Amino acid sequence: MSTFIALPAFNDNYIWLLLAEDGERLAVVDPGDAKPVINWLGKHPEYRLTDILVTHHHPDHVGGVAALKAGTGCKVWGPSAENIPARDRALDDGDTLKLFGQTLEVIAVPGHTLGHIAYYCENQGDPWLLSGDTLFAGGCGRLFEGTAEQMHSSLNKLAALPAQTRVYCAHEYTQANLRFAQAVEPENADIRVRLEVVDDLRAAARMTLPSDLALELLTNPFLRADCEAVTQAASAHAGKPLSPGLETFAAVRAWKDSF
Ligand code: ZN
Ligand code: FE
Repeated sequence: MSTFIALPAFNDNYIWLLLAEDGERLAVVDPGDAKPVINWLGKHPEYRLTDILVTHHHPDHVGGVAALKAGTGCKVWGPSAENIPARDRALDDGDTLKLFGQTLEVIAVPGHTLGHIAYYCENQGDPWLLSGDTLFAGGCGRLFEGTAEQMHSSLNKLAALPAQTRVYCAHEYTQANLRFAQAVEPENADIRVRLEVVDDLRAAARMTLPSDLALELLTNPFLRADCEAVTQAASAHAGKPLSPGLETFAAVRAWKDSF
């Protein structure tokens, strides 16, 4: 099936390695820095890097792309609408690509950046998603380029994937995200329990990823803009009554920006 390894980079990024079943090939996702990948390859000479998957153009996601491609001759996949270094294949919404015999689907998820894409793999009933800086564990990316409306509709697309989909995002933001989630929904027991688990993991300096969509739907306020409790909290914070859905989502996103 699919084996993922997380390489920490910078303060709070993860560079995901995806290992092929043949034990010889790997792909790397959003290598903001080449060094952790080169170090890993040095310790695992049986593997060669064949593909780089890029979700969006920010430096902490593409900073290592050119060096890794120059060193390995690997193929670079990335969004068509953004300037991606050394890109070989430009991807648009609905495109599919083959990786190690599996089919990956490209989902356009504008909001954090305008060209941001996610990669989804059905993986024979054990699906996974590379969500970049769009859907985080317990949160979502900031709106650097797109609108709240775009991000809301992007997240709705991801939320419609199978509930058991494992979510591999690009940052270790889970603890801060869940503290905010708890401020929005203090009565939500799923958030409380998840935050306890995450507090323990972080106290032991352990990773909180991957997540899965079922848990996100229960605990991530940005996927819960239709829930009454979230609409009420957002309305109280904004000081005016808000509708469920987009209006609530936009208010929660703005609230988080200053939390
Ligand atoms: Zn980013
Ligand atoms: Fe990032």
